[in-house]
Amino acid sequence: MLSFLRSRIFFFIAVLVLPLVSVWKSLAAWESAFVFDWPVPTALLLLLIISLLVSKKRQKDYLPQAWVLWLLLVLAAASDCACNLYAFVAPWQLPTSIFLMMGCTCLLWVLLRWGSLLLWAPFLFLQVAQQVSFSHYGTRLNSLVLAETMEASAEELLTYLTPFNMTMAILAFIGTVLFFYLMVRVLRCANSKWSLLNAGLLFSLLGVLCGIVLPPHKQKTEYFWPAREGYDLFMACSEALLHNQATIEQAENLPLPTQESSSISTLKGKEGVVLVLHIGESVRADRMSLNGYEKDTTPWLRQQPNLINFPNCISSACDTCQAQIAILTNARRDIWNKQPEMQPTTGSVLELFNAHGFKVYSFFGQRSGQKLKYDRVVRVLTKCSEDRFNAPGSPWTSLPQIAGVVDANRSENLVLFINNEGSHTPFHHYDKKNAPFLPSATDFQNPAAHAQEVNNAYDNTVHYTDEFIRRVVQSLHGRPFVYVYISDHGEYLGHDGIWGRAALGESKYNYHSTTGCRVGMFVISSPEFEAKHPHFAAAMQQLRVNSVRTVAHEHIFHSLLGLFGISTPHYDSRLDICSDKMQPYNGPMPETEN
Ligand SMILES: [Zn+2]
Repeated sequence: MLSFLRSRIFFFIAVLVLPLVSVWKSLAAWESAFVFDWPVPTALLLLLIISLLVSKKRQKDYLPQAWVLWLLLVLAAASDCACNLYAFVAPWQLPTSIFLMMGCTCLLWVLLRWGSLLLWAPFLFLQVAQQVSFSHYGTRLNSLVLAETMEASAEELLTYLTPFNMTMAILAFIGTVLFFYLMVRVLRCANSKWSLLNAGLLFSLLGVLCGIVLPPHKQKTEYFWPAREGYDLFMACSEALLHNQATIEQAENLPLPTQESSSISTLKGKEGVVLVLHIGESVRADRMSLNGYEKDTTPWLRQQPNLINFPNCISSACDTCQAQIAILTNARRDIWNKQPEMQPTTGSVLELFNAHGFKVYSFFGQRSGQKLKYDRVVRVLTKCSEDRFNAPGSPWTSLPQIAGVVDANRSENLVLFINNEGSHTPFHHYDKKNAPFLPSATDFQNPAAHAQEVNNAYDNTVHYTDEFIRRVVQSLHGRPFVYVYISDHGEYLGHDGIWGRAALGESKYNYHSTTGCRVGMFVISSPEFEAKHPHFAAAMQQLRVNSVRTVAHEHIFHSLLGLFGISTPHYDSRLDICSDKMQPYNGPMPETEN
């Protein structure tokens, strides 16, 4: 009796009960005739038969010892429960992932021996990160999240180093070490390599069979864990790297708009005109009191009589770099959708201003020292700058720099390009001592549980930007200036079920179906600007008329040219908000407002 309990026959009798019930239940749930998806199981079966024949010829055991099988099962079940996001979402799915885990463990060991640890270590660690990421931030580790993570500033990453996340990281580390220790001990004791190969193929086959008998409406490729997950993670990482590299290359390879002949009809040079182009960071339109938000986040802007507000402005992408490209070049919307007419054909609009007598100065936040994608793209797009300033600490530290440039260039025509941290996660940049909305704190350990504090922190950053803009405008007092503000993308504070700005690569979170793509945009000008040239007054008037229409990033390049009367073959009056020929944005956007 005892020897029967120790036998492989007992192992298979005991272990196959659950999958058999699973298969039977799955087949019963098919509403149409069962379709056998044959290529993968057939290939596995053929390999198994060959491997068994070779084992027989070499007089090797067909399978590892029973105790090895039992330990493999325990190891696979434990790692499945701890690491697999889908372990319990579908009750009859567990045998699929446990068998596949057993199969992959054996096969990788046979193929790579110790080298397999190099694959398991990052995989298991990322799987725990996946669990935390999904439960706390509502996102999976897709290519977009990975691309954003690769681009995150040290400050942003530190926000995620919460005691909970650190504890999870330590537990993941201990778990991985324990997994390795047991795995190596078990597999090294197996009677032969051939027996492990047979076991690997057999368990993989059983896993695949359990998965493919599920009725079509319950089938998900993610259930084939860890095989499918490993493949997805690999693809997501390479996609993230390629995506970041492609964005940089796209910006770097654009021909300058100054290669074509262009002219300016309004200014001769040295009139002291100032254009401020401020690309905001992560500002949702619906979080500005300017647009009716109940908390007074934009008290100063709200009271400016000469402010032209655009309540319906759609951002092109949830990625800062892509948004910058769409704003500064003639790119249109979703520049990755491969439609030729949406792609940029020329470089930064700032080059044209520079060519027509404007001195360009750029003011960045502290991020711009990263030497990463953001830094490289924004540097290409602001290449014509006389000087670039980084603001360490808070964005307000750039105020004396701006005032200094304005004072030193009283008679020059200037472009001041501003792009600082604004309301970027982790919503740190506001006056903590005089914060208007309390209690406020950025708790990314569990933002949903601290919704009020996180929302207040975000609102404080918008309020802080309002004061920043007031101070910039103050330093331009007496100058003919026009201040164009547009945010790069929105942010999620529980909106659309998302916290932070991630998960947007998932189909159900398509960026333009969420409220996060509606961003803040407005234009302020001084009376001196409109008085400077009849064209300016007419253009501002048309801008006022068109402000009720839906606009987007794609309008900025052409509107800046139209506003200043710059002619170039790249100009399109249909995308110029200062023109009576302007056509509103008709691209993807959320259907209803939340
Ligand atoms: Zn951004």
